[in-house]
Amino acid sequence: MSSDPRLHPARPRPDVALPSVAALADELNPEQRAAATHGDGPLLVVAGAGTGKTRTLVVRVTHLLARGISPERILLLTFTRRSAQEMLARVERLAGAAGRRVQGGTFHGTAHRLLRKFGPAAGLAPDFTILDQGDAEDLVGLARAQMGFAEKKHRFPKKETLFRLYSRHVNTEQPLDAVIEDQLPAFADRTDDIRRVLGDYVERKSARNLLDYDDLLLSWATLLEAAPTLADRMAGLYDHILVDEYQDTNVLQSRILRGMCRGHRNVTVVGDDAQSIYSFRGADVRNILDFPRQFPGTTIVTLERNYRSSQPILDSSNTLISRAPERYTKALFTTRTDGERPWLVTARDEQGQTAFVVDRILALHEEEGIPLREIAVLFRAGYMSADLEIELTNRRVPYEKWGGLKFLEAAHVKDVIAFIRVLENPRDEVSWYRVLQLLPGIGDATARQAIEVLLTHDWSLDALTRWTPPPRARQAHAQLAALLVGLRDAPTSSGTGGGVVAAEIARVRTLYDDILRERYDDADPRLADLEQLQTIAAGYPDRGAFLTALALEPPQSTQDLADGSDDADDGDTLVLSTTHSAKGREWDAVFLIWAVDGWFPLARSTNDAAELEEERRLMYVAMTRARHHLAITYPLHVYQTRRGSDYSIDQLSRFLDRGVRETMQRVVVEAAGAAPVDHSPVPASGVDLRALLRGRFG
Ligand code: ATP
Ligand code: MG
Repeated sequence: MSSDPRLHPARPRPDVALPSVAALADELNPEQRAAATHGDGPLLVVAGAGTGKTRTLVVRVTHLLARGISPERILLLTFTRRSAQEMLARVERLAGAAGRRVQGGTFHGTAHRLLRKFGPAAGLAPDFTILDQGDAEDLVGLARAQMGFAEKKHRFPKKETLFRLYSRHVNTEQPLDAVIEDQLPAFADRTDDIRRVLGDYVERKSARNLLDYDDLLLSWATLLEAAPTLADRMAGLYDHILVDEYQDTNVLQSRILRGMCRGHRNVTVVGDDAQSIYSFRGADVRNILDFPRQFPGTTIVTLERNYRSSQPILDSSNTLISRAPERYTKALFTTRTDGERPWLVTARDEQGQTAFVVDRILALHEEEGIPLREIAVLFRAGYMSADLEIELTNRRVPYEKWGGLKFLEAAHVKDVIAFIRVLENPRDEVSWYRVLQLLPGIGDATARQAIEVLLTHDWSLDALTRWTPPPRARQAHAQLAALLVGLRDAPTSSGTGGGVVAAEIARVRTLYDDILRERYDDADPRLADLEQLQTIAAGYPDRGAFLTALALEPPQSTQDLADGSDDADDGDTLVLSTTHSAKGREWDAVFLIWAVDGWFPLARSTNDAAELEEERRLMYVAMTRARHHLAITYPLHVYQTRRGSDYSIDQLSRFLDRGVRETMQRVVVEAAGAAPVDHSPVPASGVDLRALLRGRFG
C-alpha cells in the first residue's frame, strides 16, 4: 500500500507478538470481531455508548499488527492525547512492544507534527508559535483596536465574539456572511468591517509567524489539497488510519482524512451520533452520517449490546435520548439485568446536595469497597463544583478535576509564559504587548511605541534595547532589556536533559516576582503556581517543546500538574469532571450534580432548538458513563446572588421528564446540619479574655 518503497523500506519486526485468533475472539462479540478483523477498505462502526467501539478499535490495531503492518504506518486519531496513550498501552499489552511504535494522538497534535516537517517546504517558517485561544483573542483585539473599532462610540463586536465568528467560519466552512447572519444577526450590517478586522488578524499571524489552533487543521487540509507532492509524502506515511469519537469531528477533519487516504482507502472511524457534543467547535454530526458517501464502498457495522452499564441505568438513558428528534443509533440493551434503579436525589440547597454526594461517596468507598478512582462526580460547567471541592478538601477526600481548569489561564502564569514566548519567537506581538505592559511606567501607549520600534527593526531585541522610552518608563525599560539580553546570550546548557526552560523561568522571576507582589494582595498561592510552572518546564528539553505542549495539550487535570506526568494511576483519587471531559470514560458510580433547568441545560442554550438538543445528548453522555450506580442530584433552593441575595425555588432539568423519572427512584435528603444545640448554662472557665488580648501587645 505504501506509495513509495524507497521511503519505507520493509524491515523485520521480531518484536511483534502475534495475538492468537482465539485470544482476539475472547475479547469481542461477533459484530465487534467483524469490525476488528475487517480487511482493507473504509469501515464505519456507528453504535451507542458503551458498546465497545473503543475496545474494538484497540483490537483492530493489534489485528493489523498481526497482519504484518508496521506499527509506524498505523495512525490512531483520538480526541485527547490521554486517550491515545491509554489505547496504545492496551495495544501494547495485547500485541507486545510494537504497540508503542503505533502513531497516535489528536488531530491537532498530528497536524502540528506534520507541519513542522512539511510546512517549511510550503513557505511556513519552521519555528512558528501556536496561539492558544486567549492569545488569539488578544491578537484579534489588537487588530480591532488598530482599525479604530475599540472606541466606545462604535458599537462593534468584542474580540472574543470576533474570534468565535472566525473560528466558526474556518471550522464549518460556511461563508463569513452566513456565519454572521446566523450567529450575530445584529451586526449583519457590519459584515465588511468584521471581514477587514479578521483579514488583518490573518495578516498579523502570518507576519509574526503565529498559528492558532484552527490554522493547524486548516494548514494540514490546505497542504493536502493544494500541494500534490507534499500530499503524497504526508499521505504516504501511513497505511491505515483509525479515528475514535468521529461524531465530534468537523468538515475540516473529514477533508484531512480524505487527503490522507489518497493513496489507499484504509480508514476506520467509530462514533455515536447520539453523543455528538462539540458543535460549538464546528463539529458536525453529518460527518459520521455522510461517511459512507464520502468513502464509497464503506462497510458499516452497528453494535447494540452495551457492556458497561446495568439495565436500569440503560433504561433511564434510553428513555432520555428517545426524546431526541433525530437519531441513527438504536436503544441499547445489556445482559446485566441486575442492579438498582438510578437515584433522583432532591436536596434542600447546594450544601445539602454537597453533603449528600460526599456522604454517599464515602459510603460506597468504605462500605462497598469501591475505590475512589472508580467514582466520578460530573457537572455541566467547571464552576459548578466549587462548593463540593471545598467540602472534599475539608474532609480530606483526594480528588482530581478534569476540564474547567484555569491554571494556564491565570494572569500570572500567562505573564511568565509571555516572557518565554518572546524569547522563542521575537515576532510574537501579543506576548510583547503583555510583557511590556507589566512593567511599572509602561502603559498602553508606550507599549505600542515599543512594538512599533520592534516592527520597524525586524523584531530585533537590540533595537528595543537602544530605544529611548519616555522618562517614566526608563528604569523599567532598562531592567527588561538587561533581562532579555541576558537570557538571549546565556549559554544554552547542552545535553543536561531538561532544566533549561526552568532556569529561564527562574531568571524571569527575578524581575517578575516583585511585579506580582506589587499587583496582588494574595501573592503566595500565585508564587506557588510559578514554582509549579517551573517544575513542569523542567520536564521539557527546550523552550519550543515546552511552549508547544502548553498550547496544544494543556494539562487536563490537577493531577497532570501535580506530578507533570501522565501515568498517575496509583493514587486513589475521586474524579470531578465536566460532562465534556468525561466523554469515552466509565466509572462504577457516577453522580451528576446540578440537574437544574438553567444549569443543565444551560440557560443560554434554551432559546435555540439545536443547542438544546446538544445539551440533551450531553446529559446522555453523562448518564451512560455509569456501570452500577448512578445518582442525579438537584437542590430545590438556589442562592442567587445576581437576583439580589435571595433564595429562589428552582426547577428540575426539563430533560428529566415524567417518563425518565419513572425509571428512577426518588431520594429526598433531609435538611443538613440539624445537629442538636446544647442550651445548658456555660460554667466559668477561669480565663480573662481581655487580659489575653492586651497581652499580645504588652
Ligand atoms: P463510548 O461510546 O462511551 O465511548 P464505547 O462504545 O467506546 O463507549 P468501550 O469503552 O469500548 O465502549 O467499552 C465499554 C466497556 O465495555 C468497557 O469496559 C469494555 O472493556 C467493555 N466491553 C466492550 N466489549 C466487550 C466484550 N465483547 N466483552 C466484555 N466486555 C466488553
Ligand atoms: Mg469510546
